[in-house]
Parts: sequence; structure tokens; C-alpha cells
Amino acid sequence: MRNTRPAPEPPAPLFPLIDAHTHLDACGATDAESVAALLDRAEAVGVREVVTVADDLDAARFAVRAAHWDRRVFAAVALHPTRANALDDAAKRELEKLAADPRVVAVGETGLDYYWPGKLDGCAGVEEQIEGFRWHIELAKQLRKPLMIHNREADHDLLAVLLDEGAPETVIFHCFSSDANMADACVEQGYVLSFSGTVSFKNAHELREAAKLVPDEQILVETDAPFLTPHPFRGAPNESYMLPYTLRSLAEVREQDPLELAKITTANARRVYGI
Ligand SMILES: [Zn+2]
Ligand SMILES: [Zn+2]
Repeated sequence: MRNTRPAPEPPAPLFPLIDAHTHLDACGATDAESVAALLDRAEAVGVREVVTVADDLDAARFAVRAAHWDRRVFAAVALHPTRANALDDAAKRELEKLAADPRVVAVGETGLDYYWPGKLDGCAGVEEQIEGFRWHIELAKQLRKPLMIHNREADHDLLAVLLDEGAPETVIFHCFSSDANMADACVEQGYVLSFSGTVSFKNAHELREAAKLVPDEQILVETDAPFLTPHPFRGAPNESYMLPYTLRSLAEVREQDPLELAKITTANARRVYGI
């Protein structure tokens, strides 16, 4: 969705929070100064740390640089499933190097996206995506780092490939958007489910049912900024400082105290990312 509205007012602070998945470059950060400004806005409302996620090689280089510029930033690197057709030998070598950086806390976002093939020019096809996903799974296992999954309309194949390949110790489904059945299946495998602003969308009834049944130890919260701005700010730009809005929506759905849920998700982020 294009951002046509002005930036929303900051929410009331909620401490402590970690944004488990954002894209600082797509939010407009370009250098150490703009990264710090963005993190200052986040920190002012209790979001002390963020994981910035790459979807292509340029973004991966930037994510690692950003994580070295600012102590509050950690990185995740991979080629997005829609770009899996760019995973040639040179890309693999560079990703291996970047992913091994100590500031990189996950391999992602990888996975499967069955929405875009056929709609988006140059989008990787299903076979290429599955092959790329398998390669990223192996990389995560080699490095003993969490695997961060992007899943769009691919529930069945995602679980099948993970099972077939053998999942790494930690698997995070970023922006979990599936129903209660899929949530059950993921919980049973020990996967971690990260919820974004979509949980606050008016029509997201099935997703809220899913959010209710995730055990405390397996839940994270993220903005996926600049995308998926939470209700009632859809159409406005999203940024890590918006995370308390989503946390409060999620707490309401789960009938939990927001402060309690903030502590839980932050402890989980520290555990799974090792930060
Ligand atoms: Zn994604
Ligand atoms: Zn993302």
C-alpha cells in the first residue's frame, strides 16, 4: 500500500520492546546518522533494539553495515523468496560471508511466496524458491543461527520443506498471517511466531484466533516497517517507533497485560536471537 498519510503520532511508551523484524533501508535510512535518528525515535517509546532484515544483496550489505554503526541494530540476511532466482554462486559466497558476521542474528527473510509468481516481473518461480529456501535452511544450520521465514500462501509446502530438509534449532515465522490450524502446526514443531500490525487489521479474524493460541515462549512482535502499518494508521508510513501500537493490539487479543507481553516478547527476542 502506498503511504499517503502523514507519519502518525508516537504511541505512549511501552518498555521494554524489541522490533523483531523491520527494514531500516526501506524506511529511508541511508547512513549512520539516519539509522541513529530512526533508533532514537524508537527508543523514545521503549523500542530499544531492532532486527533489520535484508531481501536482496544490497540490502544485506546495508543491514550488516547498519548493525555495526549502531549498537541497537542487529541484522538478518538472505535473498527474499521472490528473488531466489538471483541466488547464483557469487551471491551464495557473499551471503555466507555476511551471514557469518557476529552482528547477524538470523538467516532471513527466506521461505516461500506463492502470491507473486506470475504477477511480478522477474519473480522467482516456485521451483527456484524451494531450491533457494533449501539453501538458506542449510546455511542457518551451518552457522547455528535462527532461520527467519517469509510465508505467503505457502503453508503446506513450507512445513513440508522444513520437515524434509530438517529444520534448524530456531525457526521464526515473521509476520505470521495464517490461520489457527497453521499456528497449531508451527507451535507443535517448536517454531516461533512473530506478529505484525496485520493482527490489528479489522478483517483479520482468523489471524487473531491464531494469535490467541501461541504459548508465551513462542511469540514475538515486529513492525515489518515500512510495510503493514497497524490499524487505525493504515496508509501512513510505518517505523519501529510504531511497535507499541501493535503490541497493545496483540495484548488485547490475547487478554494479556501489555507490559507483561512486552516483557515476554523481549525476553523471547533476546533468547532466540542471542542478543
Ligand atoms: Zn516478509
Ligand atoms: Zn520483511
